[in-house]
Amino acid sequence: MDLDTQAFDLAGGHYALGFAQGARTARFETPPWWPAPPDLAFAQACAAVIAEAHAPLLDELRGYADAQQLPYGDLLRGICRRSLKLRARAPSYPEGGCSSYARVDAAGQVRAGHNYDFYPIQRVRQRVRLAPEIGRPSVGMRGSVPAGRYDGVNDQGLFVSLHVVLSDEPAAIRPGVPFHLLPRLALETCATTRQAVDWLTRLPHLNPFNYLLADASGDLAVVEAHPERVRVRGPQAGPDGRPVIAAANHFAHPDMRPLQAGRQSAASQARQRALEAGAPLSDHAAGLCGHAGGHTTLWSVTADLTARTVAFAAGAPCQAPYRPEPWPGLAP
Ligand SMILES: [Zn+2]
Repeated sequence: MDLDTQAFDLAGGHYALGFAQGARTARFETPPWWPAPPDLAFAQACAAVIAEAHAPLLDELRGYADAQQLPYGDLLRGICRRSLKLRARAPSYPEGGCSSYARVDAAGQVRAGHNYDFYPIQRVRQRVRLAPEIGRPSVGMRGSVPAGRYDGVNDQGLFVSLHVVLSDEPAAIRPGVPFHLLPRLALETCATTRQAVDWLTRLPHLNPFNYLLADASGDLAVVEAHPERVRVRGPQAGPDGRPVIAAANHFAHPDMRPLQAGRQSAASQARQRALEAGAPLSDHAAGLCGHAGGHTTLWSVTADLTARTVAFAAGAPCQAPYRPEPWPGLAP
């Protein structure tokens, strides 16, 4: 099982960006642990919602599909999945493992970071740096899904990361935006946390997820999203009295908690509390840095949004070094 840890550094129109990525990546197939894809009409209805928000993303998907000689409709169906339920024979994933924080430090610098955790079976872990003709330049990480982003920063100093939340799913889900395109949408179309919160609270969501947002002004937020309901929570005072916010794999907003329907979240809550108290992403006492099963840290990112620096570690941050990456929009 070969890992795909390529780094892309691309500029141009979205179709060309998609073609270049598709040409250098193994043919997209629905991962075996995903449920069956939705029908084409549902996927096309999702594409219509995406087009209203940021149509160039669909051009990128067309380019990706063409490079891989995949029918565009098949690619759309593959990424617009309605359910996150793992197939019956897939390994269990009771609480997830991803952890994010953002804080204003003692010097007034705005810092943010994210550990992305999943089973090592996820092969695609690409760092993608884009300077599109339409939209803001950004750098971040993607997994299996074309055009998706699991975290990243843009040229304006906006940081975003995502976290799956295991919760009840409605019997019927209306068309919306799949989880992995929302950070991408924020990075390419927003300069501030407020602008991103506006998108994330207005667009229909296909999947239950938490999105952590921070910008260079120190505006920190977590959007807790579910197909039925979306809420926003703000920072609290950390041990030093300065603003801090953290997110993991559970809903913390009181309006959102019932959607988890009693699912266990003690470990996820412990990770959130540890980050709010100032623990580093390499911490093992609260389980922020993961080394087993679905709680294996596949990569880690940290950023200083004030100094405009960002660094990525290709694995658990207690072992893998953070390597600085040029700030998006600047020549590498
Ligand atoms: Zn570790």
